[in-house]
Amino acid sequence: MSSLFDGLAISHHFADLPSAFHTAVPPQPLANARLLHVNKELAAQLGLDVSRLGEQEFLDVVSGQAPLPGGLTVSAVYSGHQFGVWAGQLGDGRAHLLGQIDTPTGPQELQLKGAGKTPYSRMGDGRAVLRSSVREYLASEAMAGLGIATSRALALVTSDTPVYRETVETGAIVTRVAPSFVRFGSFEHWANDATRVRELLDYVLREFYPELLLEGDSEQERVCRFLQAVTHRSAQMVADWQTVGFCHGVMNTDNMSILGLTIDYGPYGFMDQFRVNHVCNHSDNQGRYAWNAQPAVVHWNLYRLASALMVLEPDVETVKAHLQTFEASFLNRYHANLQAKFGLRTWQADDAQLVDDWWRLLHNSGADFTLSFRALAQASKAPEAFLSLFEGSEDQAQAWWQAYSQRLTLDGSDTPEQREAMNRVNPLYVLRNHLAEQAIQAAAKDDASEIDTLLMLLRDPYTERAGFEAYAMPPPEGSAELAVSCSS
Ligand code: AMP
Ligand code: MG
Repeated sequence: MSSLFDGLAISHHFADLPSAFHTAVPPQPLANARLLHVNKELAAQLGLDVSRLGEQEFLDVVSGQAPLPGGLTVSAVYSGHQFGVWAGQLGDGRAHLLGQIDTPTGPQELQLKGAGKTPYSRMGDGRAVLRSSVREYLASEAMAGLGIATSRALALVTSDTPVYRETVETGAIVTRVAPSFVRFGSFEHWANDATRVRELLDYVLREFYPELLLEGDSEQERVCRFLQAVTHRSAQMVADWQTVGFCHGVMNTDNMSILGLTIDYGPYGFMDQFRVNHVCNHSDNQGRYAWNAQPAVVHWNLYRLASALMVLEPDVETVKAHLQTFEASFLNRYHANLQAKFGLRTWQADDAQLVDDWWRLLHNSGADFTLSFRALAQASKAPEAFLSLFEGSEDQAQAWWQAYSQRLTLDGSDTPEQREAMNRVNPLYVLRNHLAEQAIQAAAKDDASEIDTLLMLLRDPYTERAGFEAYAMPPPEGSAELAVSCSS
C-alpha cells in the first residue's frame, strides 16, 4: 500500500546545516501511544490525505516511533537570556525536528515536543505532560484563529508513560508546525563565531527572507536588513498579543522566533479580568513578563539578537537605527488594531488618550478583557448594559462612554455596518484557562470532545453560536486564578 507521505515534497534543510547546529537523535517512544487529536485543517494544508490520518503510519510519525519519510530527525542547539540573565547553552531539550514539507505556501517544519531526551536535555527528562500539551495544542490554534502569527499544532498524542512533576502526570507529544523554529537564541549561541553566525544567517535569509537578498549587497547590509525585518515582525506580533490580552509568560530570547511567530507556549494566558500588570506565569516573581511589559521585553530581546550579529561587523549606527524602528512599528500595528476594535474609521492623535482611559477603566473595575471589547459594538445602542460591565467604576465608565460616543459621532462610525465590523475583530470566545482546564480533564480520560468544541469556537471566535453561551463567560468565581508555571 502507498505511504501517506508519498507525493509530498519532504526535505530537511535545517538538518543539512553543518553538524555544529544540531545532533541527530532518535525520539524515545511513549508507552501505548494514542492519537488523541489531529488537526485536519492543518493536515490538509500540508498536503496530507485527511481520510488516512487514522492510520498507524501517521501515529508512528507523530508519536516518534518512525521517522518522517524523507526527513532527518535532529535536535537543535541554541542559547539564550532567561529572565534577563545570560543562561548559556540550552537547545532542544525535548524537541525533535523531523524535517520539512514543502507546501504551495512555503516550507513547513514538523517538530515533536516531548519525545524524550536529547543532548540538550540538561537535567530534564525530555518529556511534556498531557496538561501542557493540550494547552499548547489549543493555544496554537486559538492564536491562528485570531490571525496572530504563530506556530501551529498538527497532532496530539497521549500515552501510559508516567512523567514526574509535582505529581505523576501523563506523558504526551505535540507535533508542532512552523516554517522554522530558529530562535534569537540560535544566533546568540554563536555570538563569538563569525563563521557559524554567517552560516545560520545565510540559511535563514535564503529559506525565509529571500526578499532581503539583493544583488550586490554586502554581508553587513544583509545583517542590517535582517534585523530591520525581524524588528518589524516582532513588533507586529507583540502588538497583536496586547490587543487580545495574550500574555506569553516566558519571553526569554530562546523562545523568540526569528520569523516573528508566537512559539513555545508554556504558562501563557489570555486575560480574563484586565489588570495592566497581569502576570500569567506563577514562576515569574518579579513580573518581568507582565502584560504591560511585553512590548519592551521584545525590544530588549531584539538588542540581544543584534548583539549576536555584531560579530559580522555591520554598521553600528545603522543597526541602532533599525532597532529604534521598533516603537513606530509597534505603535502602528497597536493603533490599527485598536482603531478596528473601537470601530473607528480614522485614527487621530487624541485617540491614544481614549485608549489609555479605556485601559484605566478596565484596570480599575477589573472588567473582563474580551467581553469589554465585545460590548463596544453595543455601547451606543444599549449604554446601560455596557456601563453595567464596570462595577464599582460607574462614574469613570460614564465619562469614558461619553467621550467614546462623541468620538464615534465625529468619526461618523455609529452605524450598523461599523458595529458588525467590530464584531469581526473583537472575539466573543477566547481560550480562557478554565476552558483549557475542562479540555485537559476530558483529555486525561482519552476524551477529545472538549478539544473539538474549543477548536470549533476558537477557529472563528467572532461568530456567536447558539448553545455555547457558557464558553463566552468569564471563569466562575474561584477558578479565576488557576496556577500555571514552567513545570510543564
Ligand atoms: P522553555 O522555557 O519551556 O522554552 O524551556 C527552556 C529550556 O529548557 C529549553 O532548552 C527546553 O528544551 C528545556 N526543557 C524544558 N523542559 C524540559 C524537559 N522536561 N526536558 C528537557 N529539557 C527541557
Ligand atoms: Mg522554549
